[in-house]
Amino acid sequence: MKETRMYCPHGHKEMTVKKSEKKLSFRGAQFSVPVEQFVCSECGEEAGTVEQTAAIQRSIADAHRKSVGLLTGREIVEGRKKLNLTQDDLAKKMSVGIASIKRWEGASIQSKSMDQALRSALHGQNTGDSCTGNRSFSLPRIKLVFVELGKNLGRKLLKKNDKMLFAAKYLWYADMIAHRETGQSMTGATYAALPLGPQLNNYRELIEDIMKEDPSSAEPLSPEEKRILTRVALKFPREQLVFKATHREPAWKSKSNGQLIPYTDSGELTAL
Ligand SMILES: [Zn+2]
Repeated sequence: MKETRMYCPHGHKEMTVKKSEKKLSFRGAQFSVPVEQFVCSECGEEAGTVEQTAAIQRSIADAHRKSVGLLTGREIVEGRKKLNLTQDDLAKKMSVGIASIKRWEGASIQSKSMDQALRSALHGQNTGDSCTGNRSFSLPRIKLVFVELGKNLGRKLLKKNDKMLFAAKYLWYADMIAHRETGQSMTGATYAALPLGPQLNNYRELIEDIMKEDPSSAEPLSPEEKRILTRVALKFPREQLVFKATHREPAWKSKSNGQLIPYTDSGELTAL
């Protein structure tokens, strides 16, 4: 590794690396964190390299996460390595992007719902967490739900080159209402709050596979699930209706861009 040298901006000598504990404030609280940076022995000027600054940010983020009961970045890394998972493995297991895993293992703070999802994934479970609605994720089931909804609506929900702008909203209502009324989602899908509404998480990577799936290979829909799908179709005969309805839902409105919408929010639905 190349050795970094830093000189005091006030014209003094070369600065030296010093380790210390510093009180830093973050989100309204003070934390004592270990700090390593360059210090001028003549005037006390301090400066950090990009790496040193990033390490301090990670330390503060971890101190904060510890204080509010969230997994720290270090705990996420350790938990993942214990299961012998790569960042990509963990991302797939949670149906999130690898960038999210990288951020949480760094200085980004995960939401409460994502913290639950992380804990489930790091305990070797795929189901039972708030982001899959107590069901294993099933692509054939997503296809089956689209086919059933299509029968009710009298039109195809998935078209060629579909971006799932509308289809995902129908699916979201189907999954959320099923969770609210049966305690289980229909497809195990995870949803994110995007600017244009709730969207199937990682839909870009999943869409081709969903198109190709054979719906007859999925677990058949129960009479209760079929009734829910009929209700969704009757409530939203046109695409614009489902689009507008999702934009009025507190479960979507209360999320920041990209945040997952947990199934525990199903009790807050207002349209159905
Ligand atoms: Zn100096």
